[in-house]
Amino acid sequence: MPEMPEVQGLVNFLDGRLTGVRIDRVMLAGIAALKTYDPPIDALVGTTITGAARHGKFVDLSTDAGVHLVFHLAKAGWLRFTETLPATLIKPGKTPIALRVAFGDGSGFDLTEAGTKKSLAISVVRDPAEVPGIARLGPDPLDPAFSRATLAGLLSGRRTQIKGVLRDQSVVAGIGNAYSDEILHAAKMSPYALAATLDDAEIDRLYAAVHDTLTDAVATASGKPPAELKDAKRRGMAVHGRRGEACPVCGDEVRSVFFADNSLEYCPTCQTGGKILADRRLSRLLK
Ligand SMILES: [Zn+2]
Repeated sequence: MPEMPEVQGLVNFLDGRLTGVRIDRVMLAGIAALKTYDPPIDALVGTTITGAARHGKFVDLSTDAGVHLVFHLAKAGWLRFTETLPATLIKPGKTPIALRVAFGDGSGFDLTEAGTKKSLAISVVRDPAEVPGIARLGPDPLDPAFSRATLAGLLSGRRTQIKGVLRDQSVVAGIGNAYSDEILHAAKMSPYALAATLDDAEIDRLYAAVHDTLTDAVATASGKPPAELKDAKRRGMAVHGRRGEACPVCGDEVRSVFFADNSLEYCPTCQTGGKILADRRLSRLLK
């Protein structure tokens, strides 16, 4: 799943490559992916892209007609850009392609989604804030205004686990399962630490970890074509997706905690004082 750094890389690519380019055709193959009906998706046809922007994990393509194409790639969605778009027709229901956008210069992109659980979300709006997921977003951690005091304010009073707080888009925008694992590893903090109970030194470490982890990942993602972003993300991970491997900081074995539909990874020595966290699938059964 692309998170803020990959989405920023994608946005940088689209902004540089598509600004000033005209939208020639729009083909919607996955009807369920389109979450809006006014303006209609055809309102994009004939417009010229004026830029690309990121809101949390949402991509926002603006046009000279004041209409925006906004999408959220969710768990299994991706954008596939080609300089020469094939002329073949796409058949709804028989392809992972949900939306194809063709440009005046012969290029185009497909928004694709693998798997059966469809959560790719496409909106056509006059103002990105009309998208409920964007309206709900908390502050962006790479916004220069996001200070240590901002983070401390977001944590205070939340008696919930820090892992969940970091992933909650309405608290802080753009961080998902992978980068929250990485941030907590960098901060040497248990994923189960309660947000409201962090002391000043812990908030210092967490703030630095949020900032540095995301800044580094955005730098890695920037300048890469969309096809290379997923691999770049995977390569940059210290613990996420690395169960059984050695922690790059201390050499201890990276462990997982499994939940119903995902898992988190952490290093016991770096983050939990050596304690092995319980498998949540089992605890669910025991409840
Ligand atoms: Zn470690």
